Amino acid sequence: MRYISTRGNAPALNFEDVLLAGLASDGGLYVPENLPRFTQEEIASWAGLPYHELAFRVMRPFVEGSISDTDFKQILEETYGAFAHSAVAPLRQLNANEWVMELFHGPTLAFKDFALQLLGRLLDHILLKRDERVVIIGATSGDTGSAAIEGCRRCENVDIFILHPHQRVSEVQRRQMTTILGENIHNIAIEGNFDDCQEMVKASFADQSFLKGTRLVAVNSINWARIMAQIVYYFHAALQLGAPARSVAFSVPTGNFGDIFAGYLARNMGLPVSQLVVATNRNDILHRFMSGNQYFKETLHASLSPSMDIMVSSNFERLLFDLHGRNGVALAELMSTFKATGKLSVEEDRWVEARKLFDSLAVSDEDTCATIADVFKRTGEVLDPHTAIGVKAARECRRNLSTPMVVLGTAHPVKFPDAVEKAGIGKALELPAHLSDLFQREERCTVLPNAIEAVQAFVAQHGNRGRPL
Ligand SMILES: *Cc1c(COP(=O)(O)O)cnc(C)c1O
Repeated sequence: MRYISTRGNAPALNFEDVLLAGLASDGGLYVPENLPRFTQEEIASWAGLPYHELAFRVMRPFVEGSISDTDFKQILEETYGAFAHSAVAPLRQLNANEWVMELFHGPTLAFKDFALQLLGRLLDHILLKRDERVVIIGATSGDTGSAAIEGCRRCENVDIFILHPHQRVSEVQRRQMTTILGENIHNIAIEGNFDDCQEMVKASFADQSFLKGTRLVAVNSINWARIMAQIVYYFHAALQLGAPARSVAFSVPTGNFGDIFAGYLARNMGLPVSQLVVATNRNDILHRFMSGNQYFKETLHASLSPSMDIMVSSNFERLLFDLHGRNGVALAELMSTFKATGKLSVEEDRWVEARKLFDSLAVSDEDTCATIADVFKRTGEVLDPHTAIGVKAARECRRNLSTPMVVLGTAHPVKFPDAVEKAGIGKALELPAHLSDLFQREERCTVLPNAIEAVQAFVAQHGNRGRPL
């Protein structure tokens, strides 16, 4: 499989190189040159497969030529064997023809484990083969950091530096990062906000001279491997609900348009997905596009669903590429307009095309809490605030009551106790068994000033398993 840039002016790469790449050299994002397409018979024959075996069938075309079948099967079995629930992504019914797909049974209790547990193992495999070392620098407002650290903790040839805003992540989230100890793991608390952290990561990708030749790898969802891993669970859920004989709809709590883009790809690969609901909080740039063809930056608002607090959705460019007939030149032009003016809209027929599949809703903090309370009252289930936004949007936007609706349950509620408490759920939430001693564990973290020189000097000093690069 070859991968091309959405802006049409960077070299095509194979899977191995795309895994190790960040942005393409033309500023675009990598996407498969030709998406694999499965027949209905093929998809039907996968019913009842264990998660890792389904994962092998769905993802095999993407890694072909870079990883052998035997190695890939083993990597997938290890990755998903480490999840706490033996069904890996179980469905829980909330209402008539309405389900939550629980994607929070991985080690860090959010859906990001599905991709980052795999990414770590893929990196390890490829770097050992190439006898190469890499450095990862990532910014997190919470979930990505812990999932990336958990995914890479056992990687021989990876040193990982995660930047989080000092005293601005929840205690559970911080401890999930800082209690994983290892000479290749470095938590840095920046005396600034999340955007400051993000800017430092971007600047480090733009000028890598401080790394003295060591390659820098991205762990946010611009990395293709993250999207790839997320395609699998759409197949998994749909197969259990009668696909491919029956269509299925999905509602996806979204910020960077990564998770929902994976659902869009599943549909283009042959899965009968009849509707995708974009569920946002009040940071609603995606809702503004889907409802009115207006994609523009606004100020950032802190919400009860912090993992979706974004101003711009980095993966949206991948959808725009398809909406423009995969014309890289047109995309480069569109994105340069966006860069210059902070806004874009597309031609009416392209937007109408997108609306055939996508609906959207922006959900306020009040409605998020009301949904958590309502679901708890009716079913006894406690939803996390991100998942609650997905449920609310599913209920408002649903097109057909006889089509099963699956809401992506993106995090365990114990990660977001504030929202659960605000919703008036009197019941104390317990950490799952593997994290029950989280508050007693030793923490390791370095606080640095909000200055890129300090961060880059720290990386250069510790980037080789705690030793200088
Ligand atoms: C990251 C995250 C999201 C948003 O996912 P995107 O792929 O960026 O759209 C939603 N919910 C939770 C809990 C997350 O951690």
